[in-house]
Amino acid sequence: MHQSSFTNITGYGLGISYNHRRDPILVCPHCKRAVMDFVETKDGKPFSIYRCKTCGDVVAIWSEVVNEY
Ligand SMILES: [Zn+2]
Repeated sequence: MHQSSFTNITGYGLGISYNHRRDPILVCPHCKRAVMDFVETKDGKPFSIYRCKTCGDVVAIWSEVVNEY
């Protein structure tokens, strides 16, 4: 068991909860921007496509770190 969270509490009492536990979202594995997702149908089966604005179609990953620029 290795737990290293919450040892640095410089912002204690100032509403630091906003800085923790962001929900992970699907991002591009290359540039870490949020991707757009589409559901397409192929051979009668739905499947998801994730598209990055700059990298094109990608295999999206779940990440709590998102590049917003
Ligand atoms: Zn990208």
